[in-house]
Amino acid sequence: MKALGYLVFCVLIVSGLGCDGELESIIEGPDSKITLEDALTQNYNLQTPFYGIKVAIREDVGLDADTIVNLLDEDAVDFLDCQFERGAAIGFEEFRLDDGTLVPPLSELRVFVVPRNFECDAVDRDVCSGIFYPSSDLIIIAERGIGSCGDLSFWKHELGHRYGMALDHSNQEEFEPCIDPPDCF
Ligand SMILES: [Zn+2]
Repeated sequence: MKALGYLVFCVLIVSGLGCDGELESIIEGPDSKITLEDALTQNYNLQTPFYGIKVAIREDVGLDADTIVNLLDEDAVDFLDCQFERGAAIGFEEFRLDDGTLVPPLSELRVFVVPRNFECDAVDRDVCSGIFYPSSDLIIIAERGIGSCGDLSFWKHELGHRYGMALDHSNQEEFEPCIDPPDCF
């Protein structure tokens, strides 16, 4: 009964002011479309300290640049250590996937960090928390994922795409243990 009361209270508030952050983001929906062209025109003047990944951060992102570049490096190390026998060193090399695709060193990757999920032209969805463009070796990543997902929580997922996960997610199970936190859809 108490829960019902709260719900009614929330609905009343939402109709006026917005109830809390979670509901607010549902009401607002994703940010408008961000295209590859938008990403290509950014200024990639930041670099991660370990791998030298080139980074551009949109001005309305909340996290500070130091936190972002360090998170990108740390999670890239985690992902490569988890996914490949040879581990984090792969990020410094041109690495050949099982299907013969050559993945350049991470220093050639560009990452555009935006505040939240956004409309996109992905293979199997139209709202993204991150997207990888193989032809440009570029990732757009939302600072915040959806719901309970934390800072840059889709970063490992997008790295998974760079290192062999199909854009339609048909082989996602091969990457699952190393990409998403379990409560992150
Ligand atoms: Zn994906």
